[in-house]
Amino acid sequence: MPLKNISITALDATKKGEAVITEFGIEGGAIYALSKQIRQQLNEGKQAVCYIDLKPTLSIEDLITALKSKPSNSSMSKYLESTIHLSKAQLALLKNQTTQEDFFNNEILTKKIKALPLHITGLGPIDEAISTTGGIALNEIDNNFQFKKWPAHYAIGEMLDWDAPTGGYLLQACFSMGYKLAEHLNTL
Ligand SMILES: Cc1cc2nc3c(=O)[nH]c(=O)nc-3n(C[C@H](O)[C@H](O)[C@H](O)COP(=O)(O)OP(=O)(O)OC[C@H]3O[C@@H](n4cnc5c(N)ncnc54)[C@H](O)[C@@H]3O)c2cc1C
Repeated sequence: MPLKNISITALDATKKGEAVITEFGIEGGAIYALSKQIRQQLNEGKQAVCYIDLKPTLSIEDLITALKSKPSNSSMSKYLESTIHLSKAQLALLKNQTTQEDFFNNEILTKKIKALPLHITGLGPIDEAISTTGGIALNEIDNNFQFKKWPAHYAIGEMLDWDAPTGGYLLQACFSMGYKLAEHLNTL
């Protein structure tokens, strides 16, 4: 179920983008950009919390003003959907993370809409990973990607323990390693 127009300002507030709720959790550009930090937090036994901005186009002040204008006879859920334009998925997330009391407190509700905390409990399975990280340690190979302990054998790409953000960097690094290794092999 795609969540349109949400931006995630999480462990690193400079990382933004869209995310998608799936059957298993949350994924998409915003999460890929944060996956290294999320992995580090989880590996260190710390909490990994992402804060989702459900209304990036509205400021906190705009939201408070809009909530104050809610007619007293209109239901909060309906108002959030029809006037604030939260999708059903966003509303469900918001309700899931808010007590009934807080849901009717404009100030708390506004804060939650602008920074909804999402506790990440784990990473997806390796079979579905875009990049696996881990693998052969870089200090086990020389500058030409040859195994120090196994001459005339080479490893590049995802077999090595390196990390890069998706969005072309992984592919470019793999192509570059392949190019460099081919150049080296041609000199032998
Ligand atoms: C769904 C998805 C989306 C991605 N999107 C992006 C993106 O947008 N931008 C980006 O930069 N990166 C992206 N990536 C990551 C990128 O595709 C990988 O980092 C890159 O392809 C790794 O290249 P590689 O040559 O190391 O491994 P691979 O591309 O996995 O190539 C390994 C090859 O070895 C073959 N093979 C395996 N075992 C054997 C064997 N025993 N004998 C012979 N052949 C074997 C496999 O069939 C495969 O063809 C994405 C990855 C996935 C899975």
